[in-house]
Amino acid sequence: MPASERIGKYLSVERSDYQPRGGRTVNRRVLTNRGDCLGTIAWYGLWRQYTFDPVQGSTFNRDCLLDIAAYLERINKAHREGRRVELRCNRSCGKGRWVKAGTIDITTSGHTDQRCACGGEMVVS
Ligand SMILES: [Zn+2]
Repeated sequence: MPASERIGKYLSVERSDYQPRGGRTVNRRVLTNRGDCLGTIAWYGLWRQYTFDPVQGSTFNRDCLLDIAAYLERINKAHREGRRVELRCNRSCGKGRWVKAGTIDITTSGHTDQRCACGGEMVVS
């Protein structure tokens, strides 16, 4: 039995790490109380975050969208805070350092609020 977690009045998320789809590993399914699958949640590498892919033809009201958004926020935050990332200066000085991701600002495209001693920007390498 896969692990299931309630995320709202009408929705739950089921962990299912086995189902490949379009090259991405689908590791969570969003289910209704009746067990119908409304969509999947998977890591989207280009955006460096988990995203939700709805099943075609599925319908959502405001509360369901908010529940899903809150869930994504939570797992993305946990992911950012838990990992260490290597930053590298975007100028030619070549300096790098490792930081705990949850302690700095990182945009989805890898830019950060960190500066190098040379004045360059420290970006995710
Ligand atoms: Zn530098």
